Formats: sequence, C-alpha cells, structure tokens
Amino acid sequence: SIPVLTIDGPSGAGKGTVSRAVSKILGWHYLDSGSIYRSLAVAVLDAGLDLNDVTKICAVAEAMSLEFECGDELVVRLNGGDISGRLATETTGNAASIVAAYPEVRAVLLQKQKDFQQLPGLVADGRDMGSVVFPDAQFKVYLTASAEERALRRYKQLIEKGIDANLPQITREIEERDRRDTQRASAPLTVPEGAHFIDSSSLSIQQVIDQVVNLVE
Ligand code: C5P
Repeated sequence: SIPVLTIDGPSGAGKGTVSRAVSKILGWHYLDSGSIYRSLAVAVLDAGLDLNDVTKICAVAEAMSLEFECGDELVVRLNGGDISGRLATETTGNAASIVAAYPEVRAVLLQKQKDFQQLPGLVADGRDMGSVVFPDAQFKVYLTASAEERALRRYKQLIEKGIDANLPQITREIEERDRRDTQRASAPLTVPEGAHFIDSSSLSIQQVIDQVVNLVE
C-alpha cells in the first residue's frame, strides 16, 4: 500500500515546517490538514454563518472546492479565489478549531483528506492523522513542545509575515485551543498508538527533521 507518514500534535509544535521539509526530502506529497479546516473557517466567516449552525457549515464544507499548490509557499484557492494570506491569522485559526469540533464537519472532510494518499507517498500533518484519517500509516510521529515555546514561535511567525501580534494573547489562545482540541468529543488530539513521541521544546528544527527522516529511512 502507499506509504504514509503521519505527524500529529498541538498547534505551533513545528509540524508544518517539519512536514514540508520531510516531504521534500522524501519526495512525497504533503497534506496540511489544518489548512483544510482553516479554509472551511474562511468560507464560513465569509458566508456570515453562525459558528453554531452545524447544518449550514456542513453544506459549505460539502460545496467548497479547494486547490493546493505546494511551491515555496503554500497557495490555497477556495472556490477559485486565493485565500493563502488569510489562513495564518488567529481569527481563522480560532474559527477553524470551533468548526473542527463538530463530528459532522469532520465526516464531510474525511474523504477530501484520504484522497491525498498517492504514490510515491504522503506526509500528513494534523491532529488526527495517525488516529482517524490514516490509522494504518506505516510511520507515525507525535510532535509537541511546551505552550510557552509554541506561543513564542507563532508570535515570531506572525511578526515575520507583517501580521500584528500580541504574545500574552497568543499564549492564552494557544492554551484555549489546546483545551478545545484535546477535550472535544470527536477525534480529540491524542498520541496515536505506536507513534514516535518527539518534544521539540529544546530541539532545533533540523534535529527534528533528522529524527523523522531517520524513522522512515
Ligand atoms: O494546525 P492548524 O493550527 O492549522 O489547525 C487549525 C485548527 O484545525 C486546529 O486548532 C484544530 O482544531 C483543527 N484541526 C483538526 N484536525 C486536523 C487539523 C486541524 O481538528 N487534522
């Protein structure tokens, strides 16, 4: 079967950077599942929907067309329009974590994610890649770091992109999102069975990349 490497963990642990680098090294496809939830959040916010309206959110999820272009920067088109610049904001991230808590929404997005499993292989980054979407993956990693370290990284990322950011607020939002992601009833964030556990708090990105590549090779 087509090889899959899953990389799960909380937001800001470095999954995106590590997954992109590892997928390049291996020459495998890359699924950024968070960006699927973030794209849905953009669609839902643009439609002016109430974040409690699961039925309408599911309808938007079913109808949306997403295109991913993996160059140096990820380009995402939602129904033909480039929304890449709006994916990283805290507003989008928070709305993503709210819509992602509905099992009905997750069910709609399941097949869209499975479709990424193509030859020669896939690196899948998210919260439930090893537990729900690709439970049979040959390689599983759980990547985490302390909340303080993750908030600091997110802060630096936003500042680099020229997005205004506030560190104490980001820390609070990260903790709030962790709570929502780990305590939700549907596909809560957990360490998948058999996953290789990496705490990146005191590791460089390169060290994490090396560990993950070694696991596969
Ligand atoms: O990883 P990222 O911060 O982009 O994800 C945004 C939100 O989408 C997360 O807070 C989480 O609630 C949700 N998500 C999820 N399952 C995934 C990926 C992301 O529930 N596989």
